[in-house]
Amino acid sequence: MQKYFIMFGPPGAGKGTHAAPMVKRYHLKHISTGELLRSEIAAGTELGKQAKALIEKGELVPDEVVEGMIAGVFAANPDVKGFLLDGFPRTVQQAIDLDEMLESRDEYVTGVISLMIPDEVIKERIKGRALIEGRADDANDETIANRIRTYHAKTEPLIEVYKQKGIYHEVDAVGTIPEVEARVMALMDTF
Ligand code: ADP
Repeated sequence: MQKYFIMFGPPGAGKGTHAAPMVKRYHLKHISTGELLRSEIAAGTELGKQAKALIEKGELVPDEVVEGMIAGVFAANPDVKGFLLDGFPRTVQQAIDLDEMLESRDEYVTGVISLMIPDEVIKERIKGRALIEGRADDANDETIANRIRTYHAKTEPLIEVYKQKGIYHEVDAVGTIPEVEARVMALMDTF
């Protein structure tokens, strides 16, 4: 059995930041849909061209596009201990499709680690990151506002879905990186 963890939270919550030490410590394969999409854009592929316009508006790319990428990474890593999904699922449909992908192989989601952060802190963090990473979708106020709206409308309903499954765990993501990392690791140690 492989383990499947979901790093959940709004944009700017620190999913990517905390994913890095987690994958190292628990020997997981990190799958960031945002990073996968950005490498498609950088490589100038057809998929990247389609995704670019949506990402820069703060919209989600179609479910089948991200699901195709996820399935590819699962298939290419049969020997890892597990996966850390970062930025996926982001819609209720994606969560249903993930369950189907896993059920067909007798696997299931092990746990959801939900980074909790208020909208005002999100905006500050994304603005700070824009100066460091130079992401186009971090630079524009309207795009940031739309990503936050998209999160509340399409992604936040997943909280209820995973609560009902009994696999949902919240972590307070306000604090310094080492503080939040310690909280995340304390939770991960319980799995
Ligand atoms: P953040 O979580 O900070 O917004 P990500 O790097 O996870 O950043 O995602 C950047 C963008 O990539 C999203 O705003 C969205 O347009 C697209 N994206 C990433 N993951 C998904 C997904 N699972 N479904 C649809 N679109 C996605």
